[in-house]
Amino acid sequence: MPTISMLIGGESRAASNGATFERRNPLDHSVATRAPAATADDGRAAVDAAAQAFPVWAALGPGARRALLMKAAHALEAKGEAFAQAMAAETGASGIWAGFNVHLAADMLLEAAALTTQIDGQVIPSNVPGNLALAVRQPAGVVLGIAPWNAPVILGVRAIATPLACGNTVVLKGSELCPATHGLIIEALQEAGLPPGVVNFVTNAPADAGAVVEAMVAHPALRRVNFTGSTKVGKLIAQTCAKHLKPAVLELGGKAPFVVLDDADLDAAVAAATFGAFANSGQICMSTERIIVDQAVADTFVAQLAERAKGLPLGDPRQGPVVLGSVVDMATVERCNALIDDALALGATLVCGGKATDTLMPATLLDHVTPAMKIYQEETFGPVKAIVRVNGVEEAVACANDNEFGLAAAVFGQNTARAWQVASRIESGICHINGPTVHDEAQMPFGGVKGSGYGKFGGQAGIDAFTELRWITVQNTPRHYPF
Ligand code: NAD
Repeated sequence: MPTISMLIGGESRAASNGATFERRNPLDHSVATRAPAATADDGRAAVDAAAQAFPVWAALGPGARRALLMKAAHALEAKGEAFAQAMAAETGASGIWAGFNVHLAADMLLEAAALTTQIDGQVIPSNVPGNLALAVRQPAGVVLGIAPWNAPVILGVRAIATPLACGNTVVLKGSELCPATHGLIIEALQEAGLPPGVVNFVTNAPADAGAVVEAMVAHPALRRVNFTGSTKVGKLIAQTCAKHLKPAVLELGGKAPFVVLDDADLDAAVAAATFGAFANSGQICMSTERIIVDQAVADTFVAQLAERAKGLPLGDPRQGPVVLGSVVDMATVERCNALIDDALALGATLVCGGKATDTLMPATLLDHVTPAMKIYQEETFGPVKAIVRVNGVEEAVACANDNEFGLAAAVFGQNTARAWQVASRIESGICHINGPTVHDEAQMPFGGVKGSGYGKFGGQAGIDAFTELRWITVQNTPRHYPF
């Protein structure tokens, strides 16, 4: 069982009062990790350290920042096995999911490395004679990244990679559910040789999250916040940021619709729905949560999907390769069981799977779901999926939009012009035509609308989020003044 440390100003640190907390394995409840339970003072010390390191890091040329971020990508990739072990122990994740996490996270560091030379500005025509007016992007300052457990390597790296590329220094607040997994990211960055204080790492006990986060957000040197997590906590963070006037990028929950039109290639749609619904046991913000299928093809589609879902290997990921590992906790099991009971009581049909008694949850499909059922609206964040049958395109679009969230979506149809029309009417940040709802690449503008939050990570959008755009002028000729 690893005992991990925080990192503040390049030094491994325990909490200032010596407090620790434990993360236990979701299946056998053995202690997976012991980690420091930071105090608000520790949070402030981490921002202090980042503020001290900022001027030198911000002044470093793009080539030097790029070289370090590339080294970090390789150091991260070399820890593949350690990440797989930590994720299986802390969150019950499968080896496939851990491998995908490490691969995409390394890509995010490489993309961030490439971005260092893409931070450009603008020359803007001025009405004042002889005035050279420029829009200049500068590093913002200290950036706080708060990441969840579900795609821990991807989201932990995403929280800090583009901010670092832009010349900011960072504090990563790790998740209480996977402190060792997040700690491995920090180890990789240290091995790459980032100067002390450029990257700082804070871990906290669950009950202290609000106080530690507020102490950091309130710190005058803290200039940007990014948060990936639930909509419920996202709203709290938004309020804290508003109170202290700190801009935030909020990547929150989802209830991704997967629309199957009457002309869809059903084999392709079934393969994409299976992947999107059940990867990481449905615990992904982009997970397919609502399968909206045209009545004309519904019987065939549902039968094929059920066949595939039933065959997905399920088990303890520490014992060997599986597709469905353990979900993160019993709260997930209880939430999903209650959603199944509610749907069945109101007339849904159980196609495959069903309620679970432990965190090894089977792939579950509920057909004939209606708006009266809770699963129609609420994020399951588990391997339990709703199928809603609709008649025609208008009903499909209305159903897709009849939801609080708007992160990812997918539309399957062989008439791509019609599928494009549907995609353009879906209220979501991301939509894939003839592809799964679960799809992420480092260079893409990633983010949601409505209850899924605001702001974007990825590529140019990330540069916009983590730099300050300044108007700077040079008066090159004598200036005329009215008095
Ligand atoms: P969560 O919101 O419960 O926790 C995330 C983080 O919030 C943790 O680090 C925790 O310490 C912190 N936190 C908790 N209470 C806080 C408080 N009062 N003040 C400040 N911080 C606090 O989320 P989770 O359960 O870890 O993650 C699952 C959720 O994240 C799902 O809803 C999922 O859809 C969403 N998610 C979104 C994206 C995206 O990119 N949009 C990606 C992954 C997950």
